[in-house]
Amino acid sequence: MKILIINCGSSSLKYQLIDSDSENVMAKGLCERIGIDGGVLNHQPAGKDKITTNVDMKDHVVAVKLVLESLTDKDNGVIASLDEIDAIGHRIVHGGEKFSEATIIDDDVIKAIEECNDLAPLHNPANLIGIRSCRELMPDVPMVAVFDTAFHQTMPKKAYLYGIPYEYYDKYKVRRYGFHGTSHSYVSKRTAEILGQDYESMKIIVCHLGNGASISAVKNGKCQDTSMGLTPLEGLIMGTRSGDLDPAILEFLCQKEGISISEVLNILNKKSGVYGLSGLSSDFRDLLKAESEGDEKAKTTLSTYSYRVAKYIGSYIAALNGVDAIVFTAGVGENNGDIRKRICDYFGYLGIKLDAEKNSKRGEEIIISTEDSKVKVLVVPTNEELAIARETAALVK
Ligand code: AMP
Repeated sequence: MKILIINCGSSSLKYQLIDSDSENVMAKGLCERIGIDGGVLNHQPAGKDKITTNVDMKDHVVAVKLVLESLTDKDNGVIASLDEIDAIGHRIVHGGEKFSEATIIDDDVIKAIEECNDLAPLHNPANLIGIRSCRELMPDVPMVAVFDTAFHQTMPKKAYLYGIPYEYYDKYKVRRYGFHGTSHSYVSKRTAEILGQDYESMKIIVCHLGNGASISAVKNGKCQDTSMGLTPLEGLIMGTRSGDLDPAILEFLCQKEGISISEVLNILNKKSGVYGLSGLSSDFRDLLKAESEGDEKAKTTLSTYSYRVAKYIGSYIAALNGVDAIVFTAGVGENNGDIRKRICDYFGYLGIKLDAEKNSKRGEEIIISTEDSKVKVLVVPTNEELAIARETAALVK
């Protein structure tokens, strides 16, 4: 089957066309600055050069139209006609408590996603625009919603409740949801496959360390806990997000800086994390370079970052009552052995040992712990689009 994967943001649209039988990516691309002047479409057919087109896209319907034209273009297209697209898989950020797995999209599902808008006001409305745009242009193609929150719906109450009055959970469903679920699910399953062990009887900790970052504790194939919360702001220190902090800091900063709560939240989401701490960059490559040149703030930032990840791993080892494998994924986790080592160095007491040669590898599936390490440590590149394609194909078949 040929599956079109759509990941729609408020002014962007990422896509991939995947052949779900061979699992090859036929084409992929990105529309940027939708609804803003200076729109750009980057289209990359497999095995060919990327084609960049400067074109204004007044809305997402126009963007989807352009994507479909690129896919069927006689020179740079990869399919002869739109009839070849068997299904569309949409990445949806928040499924609240309504969705614990991917689902075929119908009017009721659209309504239910809309009801989760309050929980992800920046993302879900954009995701819905993607769904509606595709529906308008390809009304007969089945569509599937794959939720970032779904994999985490197996968390027990003790893991997802916050220590605030219970009525806020009852009234507003204020609780931990967690994100990057498709990645945590894909990477933890792959880990069991690589190790040749039974997924249903393993304890795995997945560290998804990208620009956004989250960590999850997976036991017997089910998520037990994860670091992101009601929103993706909680947990690890990220590229620009603060992660955990004392909630009283919000009022303190409002008063001291004379700014509103939403301005503080904007700072916590966009100007904090390693970017805010270092005052330099949200890109770990820049921070590592600055550190090697003696920049003290970069050094402090990277040690604060690694310490937070290690603290979470430690708490999840307690939550799981042990661990069989710790896995690194996403931009930083897949590409940087130095950061992986700094994190794993906290666990010498558990008998975790890294093989320096294997840990120096980048972006490939590999076991980076030594033969005699008490816990296996792996790198497994995440592939959210492929996971969405698999779920979509399975539901549409
Ligand atoms: P992602 O959100 O998964 O695309 O990850 C993006 C992040 O990966 C960027 O912020 C980069 O800092 C980081 N990254 C990519 N390559 C490297 C590398 N070789 N070393 C350290 N960080 C990297």
